Amino acid sequence: MSVSVASKQMFIGGEFVDSVSGETMEVLNPATGEVIARVPRGTTEDVKRAVAAAKKAWGTWQDKTPKDRMELLLALAALVDEHAEELARLESLNVGKPWWVARDEPPVVADNLRFFAGAARNLEGKAAAEYVEGYTSIIRREPLGIVAGICPWNYPLFMAMWKAGPALAAGNVQIIKPAEQTPLTLLRFAELAQDVLPPGVFQVVTGDGVPVGDALVRDPAIALVSLTGDTATGKLIAANAAQTVKRVHLELGGKAPMVVLDDADPATIAEAIKIAGFFNSGQDCTAASRLLVSERIYDEVVAQAIAAVESLTVGDPGTDEEIGMGPVISAEQQQRVLGFVERAVDAKATILTGGGTVGSRGFFVKPTLVADVQQDAEIVQSEVFGPVVTVQRFASDDEAIAMANDVRYGLAASVFSQNVGRAMKVAAKLDFGTVWVNEHLYPLTSEMPHGGFKESGYGKDMSMYSMEEYTRIKHVCVKLG
Ligand code: NAD
Repeated sequence: MSVSVASKQMFIGGEFVDSVSGETMEVLNPATGEVIARVPRGTTEDVKRAVAAAKKAWGTWQDKTPKDRMELLLALAALVDEHAEELARLESLNVGKPWWVARDEPPVVADNLRFFAGAARNLEGKAAAEYVEGYTSIIRREPLGIVAGICPWNYPLFMAMWKAGPALAAGNVQIIKPAEQTPLTLLRFAELAQDVLPPGVFQVVTGDGVPVGDALVRDPAIALVSLTGDTATGKLIAANAAQTVKRVHLELGGKAPMVVLDDADPATIAEAIKIAGFFNSGQDCTAASRLLVSERIYDEVVAQAIAAVESLTVGDPGTDEEIGMGPVISAEQQQRVLGFVERAVDAKATILTGGGTVGSRGFFVKPTLVADVQQDAEIVQSEVFGPVVTVQRFASDDEAIAMANDVRYGLAASVFSQNVGRAMKVAAKLDFGTVWVNEHLYPLTSEMPHGGFKESGYGKDMSMYSMEEYTRIKHVCVKLG
C-alpha cells in the first residue's frame, strides 16, 4: 500500500488552512533523507487564530454532556481502527519505524480513545453534603477550558492522543502542536476526524517550538500546557507558563536502568535488552538505556547481550526486508547520538558493539553497547535518546539501587530476578514512575498511569489519574432556605 504525501495544511477552526505567513517547512523520511511533505510553518498569528476559534467552540462545547463526549471519542476511535494500516504506514515513513513497531500503534491509540470515552462518564466530585448547618456544599469536577498539547517526534500520533483523550473526555477544547519533524499522522487524523469534530474543539497548529509552542505557552486564554518532550524544554515551558500562572503537565526525558540481579537468566536478559534498549531506535523515554548487572553474572550477560544486539538488522523500513531497527529521526539527532559515544570513548569507555553509522543515506546509528563507564560519566547521566546502552556492574542489591537512582531522571526502571520477593524489595526503592519486574517497556495499558519523578516531569498520562490534569475542582456552597 503506497502513501501519498505532499503539501499539507494545518487544522484551525474546523478548516484546513495555510500559515498566515504562507511559509512552509519540509518533512523528511529519516531512512532516506528525502522530503516527503511540506507543512505550514505556523506563526504567533496562527496561534491567535486557533485560540479565537477555541474560544468560540468553548461557548457551546461546554454544554455537551458526558455522553456526547463519549460518542465523539468512540467515533474517533472507530476512525483510527478503520484507517489503522494507513496511519501505521505514514508513521513508519515519517519516523523510520519498522513495520512491526508501527503497526502496533493505531490499535493502542484506538484503545486509549475508547478508555477515555468511558472515563468521560465516570468523572465525579467527591462530596455533596451539609458540612455547616443550613448550607449544602457540592464539589464539581470541571474542565479547564482551552488546553494546549505540545508533542515530541518519537510517537507522534500516540503522544497526541494521550493528550487528546483525557482533554476531550473531560470537556476541554484543545490545540495541539506536533513536533516539527513528524506532523503527518496527526494532520491525517484531523482530516479523518474533520466531520466528527465540531469546529474549534480540536485543532492542530504546525510549526517550530518557537514561535508556535511558545505562543501557546504564553497565551493567557490557555489554561494548561501539556508537554511531552526534553527536560530542557520542560524547564523553559514551566518558567514561561509561570507568567500566566498556567497549569503545566510535563512528560520529559528518561534514563531508565534495567537492574539484573545475580539469579537472573542471562539469555532472558539478552533478549530483553535487545528490545527494551533498541525499540524505536532507542528513541523512547522509557528505553532501557542503562544495563546494570550483578558482577556474578556480568561476563555471561554481556557476552549474550552483544550477540543479541548484533542480531538486530538495521535498515530502511520502507523496503520489504524484515527490519529490526530503523534510523534515528534526523541528521542532527544522528550527530548528537554519535557525539555522546565519541565523548564516552575519549573518557576511556569501551564500545562492546556498534558505534558509527550504517549505510550512506538516511540517519542510521549502529545499535551500540558501551562498557567501562563511570557513574558520573556524561553517557550514564544524560539522555542520549538513540540506540546506545551503557553496561555497568554492581556488587550488591543496595549498590544496584544506589546506581539506578543516581541520575536526575525518574521515569521508568526495571528489575530482573527469579526471586520475586527480592525483586519487589528493589522495586520499592527504585525512584521511578514506572517499575517493571522481569519485563521492560511492555505492557502499556490505558488503565495504568504513565509519568515521571524528578526531572522526568510531573503529572500523568493515561488512566483515570490523567483526568486530574485536565479538570479542576470547584466548591459550590448553597444556602438552604
Ligand atoms: P523537544 O523538547 O525538543 O520538543 C518537544 C516539543 O516541544 C516539540 O513540539 C517542540 O517544537 C516543542 N518546543 C521546543 N521548544 C519549545 C518552547 N520554547 N516552547 C514551547 N514548545 C517548544 O523534544 P523532542 O526532541 O521532540 O522529543 C524527545 C524528548 O521527548 C526526549 O527527551 C524524550 O525522553 C521525551 N519524551 C518523553 C516522554 C514521556 O512520556 N515522559 C515520551 C516521549 C518522549
